[in-house]
Amino acid sequence: MSTTGSQIPQVPLRGAEQIPQLGFGVFQIPPAQTEEVVAQALVSGYRHIDTAAAYRNEGAVGQAIRSANLDRGEVFVTTKCFNDDHGYEKAKRALAASLERLEMEHVDLYLIHWPVPAHDNYVETWKAFIEMRAEGLARSIGVSNFQPAHLERVIKETGETPAINQIELHPYFQQRGLRREHERLGIVTEAWSPLAQGKVLEDPAIVAIAKAHGKTPGQAVIRWHLQLGNVVIPKSVTPARIEENFDVFDFELSAAEMASIDGLDQGMRIGPDPDTFIRP
Ligand code: NDP
Repeated sequence: MSTTGSQIPQVPLRGAEQIPQLGFGVFQIPPAQTEEVVAQALVSGYRHIDTAAAYRNEGAVGQAIRSANLDRGEVFVTTKCFNDDHGYEKAKRALAASLERLEMEHVDLYLIHWPVPAHDNYVETWKAFIEMRAEGLARSIGVSNFQPAHLERVIKETGETPAINQIELHPYFQQRGLRREHERLGIVTEAWSPLAQGKVLEDPAIVAIAKAHGKTPGQAVIRWHLQLGNVVIPKSVTPARIEENFDVFDFELSAAEMASIDGLDQGMRIGPDPDTFIRP
């Protein structure tokens, strides 16, 4: 078991910042369980935690990091501004509230969680993000679930390109067009539900690749993401899987194995469509 984050590759972000390529997601982890699970992730070697105001577990994430006796600078923390907090003033209040719950002076990455085009307020929200970064409250700023039209618009109207777009991405939903757009614009691709919440793990092609390396299907899929260059944030509450998902730096998929997983795309979204999702 690793107790340091030194083996995690770092991906450069716009500006001088960088993000650990492998992180730990905490969506759907109940607040009461989150501190223990994040503590376990930190012991296993993760140094990047992905939370959100909407997950209602920011407080437990902050507590776990403090209890781990790590310097604040050793752990990369992402949180997100939810749909009812769009707008210039509301976004500023939302980050202040997140920082209060995390008990932190800054986050490493602040994301607009969804574009909510029906409310047409993501550009104003982004203007607040640019200021909050200048104020030191967020080291880097980015978006999540943005489609090419939403990216184009924030860039055109503010001159500021998001550092990252965190999107649904797994072997059954590979987002080739959006990934190409990110490359063109200099935006890092971050994959959410990277294991398709488990739905890709019994795929025969993935099972065969895992077997060839003496690894599990989950490890093979995480390796595929890493070799594509994605930032990847698998979630688990199971101690053995938390460790397993981090134990991915001692093997490499061949070009043929990468191509085999590339061939599994089914255009299968498991989450909401960003063009229409407006919850709450
Ligand atoms: P994942 O693709 O990470 O899958 C998590 C599920 O897979 C859990 O049920 C987990 O079970 C299981 N699992 C994890 N590892 C293994 C393994 N090695 N073998 C078998 N099963 C495994 O799904 P998430 O939706 O949680 O996505 C990851 C993160 O992405 C979230 O936690 C969140 O941080 C982020 N996210 C962001 C969104 C956004 O809109 N920006 C939307 C959705 C997610 P168990 O926990 O029981 O071990």
